[in-house]
Amino acid sequence: MAKIINVIKGTKDILPQDICEWHRLEKTALEVFSKYGYNEIRTPIFEATELFARGVGDTTDIVNKEMYTFEKSDRSLTLRPENTAGVVRSFIENGMARLSAPVKLWYKGPMFRYERPQAGRQRQFHQVGVEMFGIKQPTADAEVILLAINYLKALGLNDLEVELNSLGCPKCREEYKAKIKEVLKPEFDNLCEDCQTRYDKNPLRLLDCKIESCQAIFNKPEIRKVIFSDFLCDECAEHYSELKSYLDKTGVKYTENKLLVRGLDYYNRTVFEIKSNDLGSQNAVCGGGRYDSLVKNLGGEDTPAIGWAMGMERLNALLPKIEPEKLDGYIVSNDPAEAFKLAEELREQGKRVEFDLSNKKFTKQLEKASKIANFALILGEDEINQGKVSVKNLETAEQTTVERNNVKSFI
Ligand code: ATP
Ligand code: MG
Repeated sequence: MAKIINVIKGTKDILPQDICEWHRLEKTALEVFSKYGYNEIRTPIFEATELFARGVGDTTDIVNKEMYTFEKSDRSLTLRPENTAGVVRSFIENGMARLSAPVKLWYKGPMFRYERPQAGRQRQFHQVGVEMFGIKQPTADAEVILLAINYLKALGLNDLEVELNSLGCPKCREEYKAKIKEVLKPEFDNLCEDCQTRYDKNPLRLLDCKIESCQAIFNKPEIRKVIFSDFLCDECAEHYSELKSYLDKTGVKYTENKLLVRGLDYYNRTVFEIKSNDLGSQNAVCGGGRYDSLVKNLGGEDTPAIGWAMGMERLNALLPKIEPEKLDGYIVSNDPAEAFKLAEELREQGKRVEFDLSNKKFTKQLEKASKIANFALILGEDEINQGKVSVKNLETAEQTTVERNNVKSFI
C-alpha cells in the first residue's frame, strides 16, 4: 500500500460530524453583526509580507517568529496571521474612506501562526472579527464591545469576563514607556531573554510576559508603582472615562487590567480582552482595540478605527455539541426509477431525502433508513401501482399509507 500522508501538525480537518457547530458560529455572526450595520468582507489568505511587517509590527512575536512566509516570482508573500492588516489594505485600496462613516466590516476565516500547538492553540485556526472605521469618539469603542458581548450571548455564552485598559496615545505612552525602561534598567540582567529584546524594541510588551521570574520583578513595589501609575494625557483619560460610562450605562461588566497590552503593535487607547473561565490556560476568546494610526501607516488617509477578533475553535470548545440533523426521509424501494422520481419531487418541495443507489434488499434499506432518517418512505410494488407511499415514523414505528403527492405533509 502507498504511504499515507498525514495532516500537518497544528492543523485539523473540520469533519462533517462537527460542521454544524461551525455553521452555528457563522450564521449567528451574520445575524447579529447585520443588526449593527456590518457587512462581510473576504480578503485573500495571503498578502505581501510587508503588509504584516508594517501593519502588525515588526517587533511582535507574530511577525518575528510566527509567520508562514514564502517566495514566489521574487515576491515575499505571507499567509495571513490575522485579518486586520488585510482589511485595512482593502479599505485603502478600494477607497472606502470616501464612504460615509462609520464603515463597518466583518470577516471570518483561517489564520496562520507558527506557534507551539496545544489545546486551544493551532497553527491554522479560525477567527471571526469586526472592524469599524471613521469614528474617533468612544461611542465606537462602546459599540464594538457591546457587539462582541451580544454575539457571545446570542451563542449562549454568558460566563465571560471583559478586561479593559487604555494604552494612551503615542505621546503619553512614550513617556510611560521611558519611565518603565528607567525603573527596569537595574533589573535588565534578570529579565528573560524575550523581555531583554522587548526592553529596547517594545517595552510595553514586557508587561504581559508569562514567565514567573519576570512577573516577580514587575511586582516589586517600586516597579509596580510605575507600571500602575496614571500616565494618560487629558484627552486619553477623557476618552477612557467616557467609554467606561457608556459601558456602565449599558450594564456591561468589566474589570480594568493595567497589564493588558495585547500582542500587536498597532493599538492605541482602548484595548480589551474577553476571557472564559472554562477554557484552561488558553482562556482568551476575544481580543481587540483601537488602532487610529494603522490606516495612515499603511498609506491611507488618517482614519480612526477599532475592532476585535475571536478564536472560533475556542468558541466551539465552550459551546454544546450539535448532532447533525437526520434526513427527512429515506426512500425504501427496489424500483430505482420510481425512487428517483419521488426523491426529486420531495427535494423540489424542500425536503431532504435519499434512497439506496445500490438497490440493496428491502431489509437492508430499512436498517439504513432507521440510522439516518426520521421517516422511511416505502415504495413497494403495491404502493407504486396505487400511486401511494407508506410513510413509517422511525421513532414510533407507526406506519400510514398516503397519497404520493401528499407525502410532504407527513414528514
Ligand atoms: P493569545 O494570547 O491566546 O495568544 P492573541 O493575543 O495572540 O491570543 P489575537 O491575535 O488577539 O490573540 O487573536 C484573537 C483571538 O484569536 C484570541 O483571543 C484567540 O481566541 C484566538 N487565537 C489566537 N491565536 C490562536 C491560535 N494559535 N490558535 C487558536 N486560536 C487562536
Ligand atoms: Mg498569541
